[in-house]
Amino acid sequence: MRLDVVTLQVAFGVIALTLLVLFYGVSVRRSHSTYSTWWCAAIASFLTGTGLYLCDGTVHQVWANPAGNALLVAGAACVWAGARALRTTAPRPWQILIAPVITVVASAFDSPSTNTWSAGGFLLAFMTFFIGRASLEIWRLDPNTTTTQRPLAVASGALGLYYLCRWIAFVATGPSSSTFQTYFGTVPTTLFTMVLLIVVSFTMATLSNEQALKELRAQASHDELTGILNRRGFLELAESEIRNLPTRDTPSTLVLADMDNFKQVNDTHGHPAGDSVLQAVAAACTRSVRSTDLVGRYGGEEFVLLLPGAGLDSAELVTELISKTLRMSQPAFDFPLPTISYGLAALPPGPDRIGNAIAAADVALYTAKELGRDRAVRADQH
Ligand code: GH3
Ligand code: MG
Ligand code: MG
Repeated sequence: MRLDVVTLQVAFGVIALTLLVLFYGVSVRRSHSTYSTWWCAAIASFLTGTGLYLCDGTVHQVWANPAGNALLVAGAACVWAGARALRTTAPRPWQILIAPVITVVASAFDSPSTNTWSAGGFLLAFMTFFIGRASLEIWRLDPNTTTTQRPLAVASGALGLYYLCRWIAFVATGPSSSTFQTYFGTVPTTLFTMVLLIVVSFTMATLSNEQALKELRAQASHDELTGILNRRGFLELAESEIRNLPTRDTPSTLVLADMDNFKQVNDTHGHPAGDSVLQAVAAACTRSVRSTDLVGRYGGEEFVLLLPGAGLDSAELVTELISKTLRMSQPAFDFPLPTISYGLAALPPGPDRIGNAIAAADVALYTAKELGRDRAVRADQH
């Protein structure tokens, strides 16, 4: 049995159109993600490009063949653009347009009215180039943020490799050789692309959902005003941080920081002024700690820090640094910035180490307030 090319291309068109509608309806409209939009543009280009090849053998071949080639190259460029948008930013328009333009010009000079493979070498080289680069972009994605990255990279890598072989066979043997026809002609390529389109659409949709989920998680664990962790996010990370300490005896310190007479700032200068002070304090905290330390907004005008590996002495130095850093942002305000009181507690052994440390630090913080504010007090060691 021989597969009829036109039937296959029509089947391909139907599948691509279905995917386009589903993908647009489900993924693009819901997630508004850049790469989903690029993937839709890619499917649309492949679909239209393949559709134009149906004009081969008619009077329209003269324009339809070069245009089809250009659209296939544009589709591959869109795949690359989408993959790059996942990691960094999408390429500039000229980086996407230049290859299709070169392809259409080369095809126009390669007897497009009679040659169904006009500028075939350009077409296959550009396809290989873009699909290969797309696979590399996907391969380089951070594996911690997605589970679909590896299969997607392997699937597009396989297509890139197939196009490389196709290009080599085309240059070496020409499009009418039996090797090319059997392994790299329209029938095997269409079948191969059909399967790939489905695999990529499926993984892209998963990727899109994973990304959306990641954003939601980040929103749920961070404080909107200051951008640092909120109480829930802090507690979650703190638990996993202390589980990863080298030993249970590694000294670690928990700090509660509470603004002094903060209510006066709001009462005298208004709530927005209070909000900018909170942002300045969050920035001062973040700037004063190491990247392995955790900083969170515990609630209202109270902040919490976990300093893994730091004893009480170094934690106290950190609190001095925070207050000093905050004082350095004074010129940005037209009213005196409030001071901060701190309660420090070493992480105790036993269960619920974080919860117990917070309770102890809270008592110490209360003492700091009683002693006149603007100071750090250590929790009693038992
Ligand atoms: P103390 O030195 O005893 O801690 O006095 P205080 O005024 O800082 O303490 P109090 O608990 O009486 O007041 C805390 C104030 O923090 C009250 C509340 O209006 C303000 N606050 C809490 N969250 C926010 C916020 O998100 N933005 C602003 N602008 N103010 C906030
Ligand atoms: Mg306060
Ligand atoms: Mg308070």
